[in-house]
This record gives sequence, C-alpha cells and structure tokens, in this order.
Amino acid sequence: MRRVLGALITAAALALAGCASSAPSAQWHAADGGVASAAASGQGGGAPVAHPIGENPSSASSPKPSASASASPSSSASASASASSSPPPPADGIMRQTGTAAVALTFDDGPGPETPRLLAMLREQGIKATFCVIGVNVQEYPQYVQDIVRDGHTLCNHTWKHDTSLGKKSADTIRADLQRTNDEIHKAVPDVPIKYFRHPGGNFTPTAVRVASELGMVSVGWTVDPFDWNLQKWKGQQMTNHIIATVRNNTKPGAIILSHDGGGDRSATIAAYKTLLPELKAKFTLEALPL
Ligand SMILES: [Zn+2]
Repeated sequence: MRRVLGALITAAALALAGCASSAPSAQWHAADGGVASAAASGQGGGAPVAHPIGENPSSASSPKPSASASASPSSSASASASASSSPPPPADGIMRQTGTAAVALTFDDGPGPETPRLLAMLREQGIKATFCVIGVNVQEYPQYVQDIVRDGHTLCNHTWKHDTSLGKKSADTIRADLQRTNDEIHKAVPDVPIKYFRHPGGNFTPTAVRVASELGMVSVGWTVDPFDWNLQKWKGQQMTNHIIATVRNNTKPGAIILSHDGGGDRSATIAAYKTLLPELKAKFTLEALPL
C-alpha cells in the first residue's frame, strides 16, 4: 500500500517560470516549475509555460477511481488497492502521484528562514511531509535539516544550487551535483535516507532521471501546484488566498502537492498552510513520501 508510483504525466511539471537566475544568493524565487530567468516573462526555457493547474486535475484523478475512498483503506478496498499499489511505472520514470489514496505535501527550495515556522505547524498538526532541499541551503542551515529529519519528515534532493538546466548537462555533471547535495545533507544528518530527486523547475530529462535512479533516488514531480513562488503575480493576502483555493480545489486522493518553504519570502505560503493543514488533514491521509 505504501508503494509510490505515479501513473500520470502532467505537462504541468514542465515549465513554470520563476527562478531569478541572476540572483546569486538564496533568492531563487523558487519555481519548481520554474526555469531560470523566466520570473517575469513566464518564458519557460523552451518549454511551454502553462498553467499546470488547468492541465493537472483531470489526470490527477482519472486513473484511480477506487482511490476516492480516501479515508478507509479497508479490506473491501484491498482488491482495488492491491491493483493500484502496483501500477505500471510511468514511461518517463517520474512519480507524480503517491500511488495510494494518501496525499503528500512537498516543500521545495529550502531550508530557509521560514522553515522552522512550517515545521512547527506540521508538528502541531501531527503531519509528515517531504522536503526537497537545495545543497547550498543545506550548507547554510544544516540545523534545519536536522530538525526536518528529527520531526520524521523525508528528504528529496533538489540539486546543489537549483540549476534549472542541470538535466541537459552530462551525466557526470549531473551525478556530481546530486552527489554533492547528498553529501552536504549527510554532513548535517549522517546516513539519512534520501530517496527522492526533484529537478529544479520540474525540468526532468531522461539523463537526470537515470542518474538519480543510479544514486538510489526516485524522480518525483507533482499533481497540484499553487504557484506559491510567483510573487510577481500574487502578493500578500492575495497570494495566500490563491494558494488556499488552488490546493483546496485541486487536491484529490493520491495527489502530490508542491509548495515552497525556501527561495524567497514564504510568508504567504506559511499563512496559507495554517488554514490548509487542518483542512487537508480532515479530508485526506497525509503522508511523507515513504522511505
Ligand atoms: Zn525549486
């Protein structure tokens, strides 16, 4: 039941904008859907930009009608559950759903100054999530990585410095980047499992997926993206409302939700999750992506 394999391909995983490539520091403005330098224009580095939200939801729910029984993995559901627990792997090797009725919260681009606030909220609600961390941020905030692990969350490698074009480089370059990131995580928390890889901007390439797999990591995309990195488009309460509405309206059993705890001002994200966490908890089983 804990098998995680997403069956769906969402074009959404590609191409959001938002990483301010010129920023040398931690101001990436996230963009896990993003491509560097595209923050304002929405230009997606060659990929079509798109509002993944419009493209995702249908794919998010269609293959798993049985998963609507989100609250009760009962014995009567076990037949369908056993079928759904081993779906064929997606052709591109990228997991975009949990593979069960459970919903996974993923937070990218940290750790950062607001990570402790998010951790406190998750702790208060008893919710486990997955953090896709950036190597240079791990270097800057190793104690937050320790806190993440101590609280029972799981980790995902989000590359050394959020190079949205990394996947286009040689396998050796990709491997060195991912290994360096894992090594930095292990400096903070020796031997902690790092089972997942998320390419910056969702710009997975077959080479990147393969290298990640060789390093023991499953490539993970997402099904719901509230665009919380796009501070150009929504500000303050408007952003908070946008995040709440997007997650509330698009999350279905099996969803992997993308949000950000680092890479810029995340106060709107924090505010949104203050509302969303109890709501999601009441409606779904929330789980960290499993080890
Ligand atoms: Zn990112």
